[in-house]
Amino acid sequence: MSSYKDILKYYWGYDDFRGIQREIIESIGSGHDTLGLMPTGGGKSITFQVPALAMEGVCIVITPLIALMKDQVHHLRQLGIRAAAIYSGMKHDDILQTLENCILGSTKLLYVSPERLGSKLFHTKLSHMRVSFFTVDEAHCISQWGYDFRPSYLEIANIRDIHPEAPVLALTATATPRVVQDICDKLAPQASNLKPQTSNLKSQTSNLKPQTFQVFRMSFERKNLAYLVRHTPDKHYEMIRCLENVGGSAIVYVRSRLHAREIAEHLTAAGLSATFYHAGLEHAVKDQRQRDWQHDRVRIMVATNAFGMGIDKPDVRVVLHYDCPDSPEAYFQEAGRAGRDGKPAQAILLYNSNDPVKLMKRIDDTFPPRDYIKEVYEHLAYYYQIATGDGYGVCHEFHIEEFCQRFHHFPIRVHAALQILERAGYIDFDEEADNQSRVRFLVSRDDLYRLNQATPEEERVIVTLLRNYGGLFADYGYIDESFVAQQAGFTPELTHEVLKVLSERRLISFIPRRQVPYIRYTQRREDKENVWISRDIYEDRLEQYRERIQSMLNYIQSHDQCRSRMLLEYFGEKTTKDCGQCDVCRENNGQTITPQGQREARQQVLSLLADHHRHHITELSRLPLPTEELNAVLTLLVQDEEIEQEDGFIRLP
Ligand SMILES: [Zn+2]
Repeated sequence: MSSYKDILKYYWGYDDFRGIQREIIESIGSGHDTLGLMPTGGGKSITFQVPALAMEGVCIVITPLIALMKDQVHHLRQLGIRAAAIYSGMKHDDILQTLENCILGSTKLLYVSPERLGSKLFHTKLSHMRVSFFTVDEAHCISQWGYDFRPSYLEIANIRDIHPEAPVLALTATATPRVVQDICDKLAPQASNLKPQTSNLKSQTSNLKPQTFQVFRMSFERKNLAYLVRHTPDKHYEMIRCLENVGGSAIVYVRSRLHAREIAEHLTAAGLSATFYHAGLEHAVKDQRQRDWQHDRVRIMVATNAFGMGIDKPDVRVVLHYDCPDSPEAYFQEAGRAGRDGKPAQAILLYNSNDPVKLMKRIDDTFPPRDYIKEVYEHLAYYYQIATGDGYGVCHEFHIEEFCQRFHHFPIRVHAALQILERAGYIDFDEEADNQSRVRFLVSRDDLYRLNQATPEEERVIVTLLRNYGGLFADYGYIDESFVAQQAGFTPELTHEVLKVLSERRLISFIPRRQVPYIRYTQRREDKENVWISRDIYEDRLEQYRERIQSMLNYIQSHDQCRSRMLLEYFGEKTTKDCGQCDVCRENNGQTITPQGQREARQQVLSLLADHHRHHITELSRLPLPTEELNAVLTLLVQDEEIEQEDGFIRLP
């Protein structure tokens, strides 16, 4: 077995580990259950990928983000590491093959989405595998105290019982002390959960280790990130001012999809380069916009919280929240997408006097009264015409607007009610039904070859389908449109168009991927009065939600405590130093810019522009000047018309 450092050097080319990577690796490598608290960008994946390569067997990595999963597997394979993934939407044969490969020992890392954990197939195959250790990414999702609880994560405890000898590595970028404790409790193997043993299962109770997690915490302090709260009566104006002051890539977070579009239009009208993103957009459109932003073809991404997971753009200079998020966890994570490259960056939160009322209203919207929830449950049964005692396991499309119109409900409240019903175990409510498209040929193979009126594009797509997917003449098969596009050498949009044309010409039957959410009954339909919503999924969670909203209110309304410090303390980190760059620190320090400093800053900017070329505003970050002084001077120079600023560029007039 080579040393961890050799592996790091061989595959990743780094000379040594950073931060707490080594401690985590050594802990899991010596068989201890380990919890690593690392902020995003802290080099999380190395902490399980390196020991996975050093140890015998396969490392099972549980992670909720399919896009991220695919990305990591792709990346690992490029490095020559045997990695694989199973997730919802994959073909049964492929899943089987992938699992068999793990049993044969040819896979070092197997990524699994939490929804797959409960399947019988997975349990059976897992019991035949040699498992080095389990990695639980985004481990806070297992905690009901967390802001992002996912019931499917609870299955991990059962999975552990299949291999009690394999230690677990839990990783998270956000966890309060209470959540940390909860993660450790929930992930400990629970012998009581075990089903009667089959011969495949190893005997488990005798060799349980004492369950003490070794916890490693990396500071969540972001030294290059200035947290700024801007109290303003005019958020539009303030937003534009902030975005004009600082150049470079930016994200503007908003609450609603509609708002995302409006604000992007507003920014564009103001001469800034902007687009928008939310979960309701077509897949291809989302991809395209993300790429445009990633490659700096568009500067500002206006988005709902659907944007950002798994996106790693290092040079984001500003993350601006137009609306207040409903928890410090969400805020910290979203704001933390700025300045991953270590260069100065800003996390700005806009706030006006309406916000406290709006925040408090979210509590009622998120937790409608129990009777209301039961009513929605009953209306759902009318909607699908499910009799009492029926409906178990059946999956239905859910059109929320139609439902609301028919039963006179408000979407926000219905949405909240459905989430609570899901937590109570009555339904599965999957909002982002990102299923794959399906295709079936309507003509025979021979007819297809005799086809002579096909355009070259049509021919390419047909050939690609034939080459990559079997059985499409007999029955519908799932296809991955972006994969087909890639193989055919077309854009996803063109590929989608061609598939539609082929379908209109009756050569194929094409069922596009569904954008519609779905609801599945996970229990037989109950009578309304028998619907049971327990205290721990209603009152307890309501209380936690209220506390998080209150913490957010404290954050925006406080004027006497360093913002960075407030956030760090929320996550249980004791720090004695103020950050010196948040709005509170600046004000406390009476940090106004000295005339001397201002003269110097002005001189530096003007000499950069002396070549009469236009310069991107990010070039200024290379100048040895504090961001605040630069911003102030920049504003002055523009006001005095000594320089011109447009779309992230500055130049002499
Ligand atoms: Zn501060």
